[in-house]
Amino acid sequence: MSRSKAKLRVKYRSSSDSCENFMNRSALFPVIVLLAALSAEAAAVKSTRMLFLGETGVKINIYENPARRITFFAPHYNERQAARAAREAVDAFGGRLIEIESFDERGRPARHIKFRFGGRIYSIDPNRIYTENGRACGSAPDAEAAVRNFAEDLLKIILAPDGKTLREGEKFIVAVHTNADLDAKEKAARKTDLTAAAFVRSTGAEGFSGGAYQEQADGVYLSNAEDDADNFVFLSTPAFIGHFAEKGFNVVVQKSPARLQTQNCRVDDGSLSVYAAREQIPYINLEADGTTGAPRQKQMLEAVYELLN
Ligand SMILES: [Zn+2]
Repeated sequence: MSRSKAKLRVKYRSSSDSCENFMNRSALFPVIVLLAALSAEAAAVKSTRMLFLGETGVKINIYENPARRITFFAPHYNERQAARAAREAVDAFGGRLIEIESFDERGRPARHIKFRFGGRIYSIDPNRIYTENGRACGSAPDAEAAVRNFAEDLLKIILAPDGKTLREGEKFIVAVHTNADLDAKEKAARKTDLTAAAFVRSTGAEGFSGGAYQEQADGVYLSNAEDDADNFVFLSTPAFIGHFAEKGFNVVVQKSPARLQTQNCRVDDGSLSVYAAREQIPYINLEADGTTGAPRQKQMLEAVYELLN
């Protein structure tokens, strides 16, 4: 579809270039403006990079629409709702969506990536690989070198080519997740849902013993306007808290970089948010409920684009 638009544009441009008559030119002008507007809304162009994780090739899909400078990252391939919402936003407003493609043995989109290294099979969560401590805490500490290489290669796609700074013209990095635990075993292991309230610390009052993720957060804003606890925005710095709180979202602010310097696996778990904080890259994570959160995720994405203005 975008290709036929491009052809049309070329055709009109060449006829206007050859036209010396002002009246003909002015008649063509609205057509050219209309076509230019259409091309700004053109669907993102997909490209794929193959990165090696040990001896296994992993596809990284990149959907790009150069109309804006913003990068979304979807690490978990089973969270299709989040990737779909980000891709629609990129189509409509511009930017890039980067997703890791991963399937389980039955061919279904998977959260974890399975790979072969040194004759053994490993499985990792692709959002637990970006810090040394996280890799040591994770499921493949024996394959640390392979996981580190993969993480570094991936960061060079998500960020600038140095893998440590934002790309030119970008203000922050945006991770998108679907907040539904499809893996029943993992849910049993975690014994808790991932909600903004799970990041609130124990106050010693009214028997509240604190949330399961309290050690990761400096603070939490709980909006009375949010109907579903599974929808929230997670930030690496308090800079944008007012922006999202004003719009009625629940907001969690991660610990400051100095307080993330620990070997505690519940604090530095190797997630991109911890890496981003350490490299002083503003990071925004949009978590939306997997069954009813699609409209809310769209609103979160629109709120993110407002920060670009
Ligand atoms: Zn996720």
